[in-house]
Amino acid sequence: MAQAPIKRKVLRRFYEPLLLLSALGQIRGERIKSESNTDTLSPNVHKLRRSFVDGIAYICAYEKGPSRVTAVALEKTPQEIRVWLAANEKVQEKVIQFLENVLSDIHRISKLNDRESRQQEGERTKEDLTSRVIAFNAPRIQIYYDQVAQKHAPACLEIISEGHEGSGDRIARIGETHLAEWLRENFVTGTPSTPNSTKLQALVRTCYENRRSPVFDTLKHLAGQGETRRLKFEQLYDLLCKLGKYVHITKKLIEAAISLSQDFMEGFQIEALPSPKEQKLPLMSNEATVESTIHRMFSSSEEQSKFMARLQFIWDPSELSELLQRQHNTKTRVHAELLLIDHFEKNGCNFLDGNDKYIGCSKPACYLCHAYITSHPGRYTVPASHQKLYVGWRLPDIDPKDPACAAQHKSQEQIIMKLIDWVRKDITTDIESRTSRLPYHADSTVGMTSTSKTLASKPDLLSSASSLYDVDTKAIDINRSETVDPQEVQTQLDDSDISDDEGGVRLD
Ligand SMILES: [Zn+2]
Repeated sequence: MAQAPIKRKVLRRFYEPLLLLSALGQIRGERIKSESNTDTLSPNVHKLRRSFVDGIAYICAYEKGPSRVTAVALEKTPQEIRVWLAANEKVQEKVIQFLENVLSDIHRISKLNDRESRQQEGERTKEDLTSRVIAFNAPRIQIYYDQVAQKHAPACLEIISEGHEGSGDRIARIGETHLAEWLRENFVTGTPSTPNSTKLQALVRTCYENRRSPVFDTLKHLAGQGETRRLKFEQLYDLLCKLGKYVHITKKLIEAAISLSQDFMEGFQIEALPSPKEQKLPLMSNEATVESTIHRMFSSSEEQSKFMARLQFIWDPSELSELLQRQHNTKTRVHAELLLIDHFEKNGCNFLDGNDKYIGCSKPACYLCHAYITSHPGRYTVPASHQKLYVGWRLPDIDPKDPACAAQHKSQEQIIMKLIDWVRKDITTDIESRTSRLPYHADSTVGMTSTSKTLASKPDLLSSASSLYDVDTKAIDINRSETVDPQEVQTQLDDSDISDDEGGVRLD
């Protein structure tokens, strides 16, 4: 007898606590780094293949925003390398054309017989390829530029001009003066303007070339000091690294063309997967309440009462239910990484690196994609994660006409049971680990200092608290989402490189 599709009852058991968990805090923990490959025989080859996949994904996500999040996987076929692309929304034709162009350069380099010729061709190609990568990604680069020019550079210049950071140290003051000059020269021109394409090209290169300069050293040093002020420098440092990243990625793509010539010799074929339509979250309005969720989470009334008492100590359940009600109208979609896993799974495709079932993505995985891949029996490489929970997430769709649909339903049901467990455990841990009640009606001006301190010590609460209690988070300096999307901010300041959280691409 055919396995039935996942029952609504099971989906309800998944989405009900998911909405509650999201209300408790959308960021579900510290960032997680990508699983490293344990094969020590040829670690450089694995690393290069991964950085190639990540680089492709990153340069295809040319606009900021969830729609353009792009995932990439390489399939090995006897004829060529198939470059599979998926995005949260349809992969655009212009992305495919751009990538065809990039990959034709990579192929031209990699098919040359000896390494020296490949290196020479790589050197000849580098400048032009960098320019094309920057030009295609101009919409995203422009946003980073605006964030620096309009907000972060002026804020940091102000702090430097106040002279608080140098503490009278003459050498430190000289470093700060140079940093201030560099920022003014490159980002603060006096008149707000949109840089033309030539300027954007130059800025990206300048940021890359200065990554190890005294200017960046001073910035890193300032990012490591103080509290609130530190974050301003940290955010500026992050954005400058992101600007320079396009040069770094191009360099890595060329390195891959030179060193992975065996892999790429036969050329590439680009294939884009369709993105399924958004769907309604499978929950009725009366199911999106705290009471209904708790009722289904615990079988005994004693456990239900205990949990509710604990919850009431921290939150007002009726306000939480209000938030759940708002969320239950969210539309769901299948995230880009899952579309690729689903395709490889259904079609039995071979990864280029048979020992490393690696999906590259322009962003670290979300909380649920990370949990899904971790729980998947196919042993796909567990990606880095920013641990942000999106309730508008769903499992890959199953075509009822597919002869293998029964097995697919069965496999999905096993995964979703694990996810239900995962989410429930997180809720219980969250509720048990909190020690105090949140301030309920924080005034956005009066008493901001005390409110901001309370919330700042619980950054995961900030987003929910702001929507529930009308806290003006924009006034809270410490809130990192104030100016930069928290998913995109990654700081690894002890490490002199940009972290590999954002698509696994390092800047060195
Ligand atoms: Zn995801």
